[in-house]
Parts: sequence; C-alpha cells; structure tokens
Amino acid sequence: MPTFENPSNGHKESYDSQISVIWAILFGFFYFMFIGQWLHAILYIVIIIATAVVFAPLLLIVVPATWIIYGFLAPVILRRWYLRNGWREIEEGVAAPLTDGRPWWAQNAAPLPDTRDCPYCAEPIKRAAKLCKHCGHSV
Ligand SMILES: [Zn+2]
Repeated sequence: MPTFENPSNGHKESYDSQISVIWAILFGFFYFMFIGQWLHAILYIVIIIATAVVFAPLLLIVVPATWIIYGFLAPVILRRWYLRNGWREIEEGVAAPLTDGRPWWAQNAAPLPDTRDCPYCAEPIKRAAKLCKHCGHSV
C-alpha cells in the first residue's frame, strides 16, 4: 500500500491501489470528484460530452473505455497528486534507522553499556579503554 508523508507536518496518508481502482470503476468520475481530483473528473466528463457532440454512437465504446482506463489510472493519479504537492513517498515496513551497529533482532534489547569489566581485576572500565585504569593491565 503506497504511503505518503507530508514533510511540512509529518502527516501520513496511504491508499490501497486495488481499492482505488475498484472505487473508480464503480463510481467513474464521481470517485474523482469525491477524492478532490476535479481536473480529472472534469476531463472525464469533457471526453464523454465531446464524444456525444461529435459522434454519439461512439459513446458505446468511449464511455466504457474511459471508465476502465480512468479506473486503472486512479492509483497513478493519486500517486502523482501526492508527489506534485510535495508529499514524500515512504516505504512501509522499513525498520527504524540503526541506532548502533547491532543487527535488527538486537535493536530492541537494552542499549549497549559504555563500560565493560576488566578481564584482570573485574573492575568496570570504559568500553574503548586500552589500558585498565584500576590495575594498569592492557585490555
Ligand atoms: Zn583492571
């Protein structure tokens, strides 16, 4: 399911591509009006009216064709609308950025302590230490 994020307020929206196709095929230009895609709703109607004016029998082909083509275009139109309005497409199910070098399955564990125990005197020393501050051994 494509998800978009509005970078100005962090608002997230997603739509189901298959469902948008079903709605667009069921309701035709009403669907495009409903989702606020007025340009496409008007274009849709203009195509039908223009056909009726030019050669009405063609409506038998043009109306179902427009209905189906616009139906399958609905997710494309939605996606382009979000991107044109500055929304950012985000991947769903992507793990949060790594907080340390550990693999994803260890991410929820307690954070890495920044100390460890000296193997010689068992006193806690800094993880990055090369020399124990308690016993002077190199570690
Ligand atoms: Zn030590």
